[in-house]
Amino acid sequence: MIKKNRQKQGLTVLTLENDFRFECRQSLKCYTRCCRDITIVLTPYDILRMKNGLHISSEKFLADYTVTIIGDTGLPVVILKMKDDDEKNCPFVTKRGCMIYPDRPWPCRIYPLQPESTKITETAGKEYYSVMDVTFCLGLEADRVLTLADWIEEQGVSVYQQMEAPFKKITTNEFVSHNKITNKKIQEMYYMACYDLDRFRRFVLESTFLKRFELEPEVVEKIKEDDVELYHFAMKWLEYGLLGQQGLKIRPEVIKAKKQKLGIK
Ligand code: SF4
Ligand code: SF4
Repeated sequence: MIKKNRQKQGLTVLTLENDFRFECRQSLKCYTRCCRDITIVLTPYDILRMKNGLHISSEKFLADYTVTIIGDTGLPVVILKMKDDDEKNCPFVTKRGCMIYPDRPWPCRIYPLQPESTKITETAGKEYYSVMDVTFCLGLEADRVLTLADWIEEQGVSVYQQMEAPFKKITTNEFVSHNKITNKKIQEMYYMACYDLDRFRRFVLESTFLKRFELEPEVVEKIKEDDVELYHFAMKWLEYGLLGQQGLKIRPEVIKAKKQKLGIK
């Protein structure tokens, strides 16, 4: 017999096959109660989807809807800014629900679940989640039973997981974990590449970037138009610049000029 979520004792960790009870409906008294006074940390892909869904630039999205803090690693962390009203509502909530529903961020998709993964389980490619104990959420009292795999499918979470993978590779890298970044220029470059994609595009196309790095013409064409391609390129650039990985190639003439300047043959 499947127990009601609230009858389960302690923390119940779900694997993909495990089930839980949940159904969110507009007729529930708690409708949109979960869209206020919450901390939603945004990933680069969340921002890409939200700013495109709203048809605004990344600069405008970041300025109007986010606050940035510096995390434990010294890297910027972007948080969705709640409204300055008494209830601290999400800027996108309306009486009828979420006005950016097709592009809502990852935490709003996976709710009422929360990840319970550790670095070890992630390295092993395993996903674990638990059901959040949210007293006001009447959806947790529903009779509808579904598995974690069903929920991931239904909420369109997979693409977010795929897109987050290269970002996670950077934020969980040993170098980043063990060396707190305090250099303001690095923090700013990281912020631009991860979150301010429209500015990053101009940086690549309109600065000396293309004179310094060798990029395939097809890649240049793609990143002119395609935000997802641009995002992947931004992650590659961070791997190169932040982690010293060999994803990008400096033009031979730039290396030659640098050597000449340093008096190296
Ligand atoms: S509190 Fe729970 S049931 Fe109510 S609207 Fe939010 S997710 Fe749905
Ligand atoms: S983004 Fe949408 S689903 Fe998420 S908290 Fe705001 S209104 Fe609710």
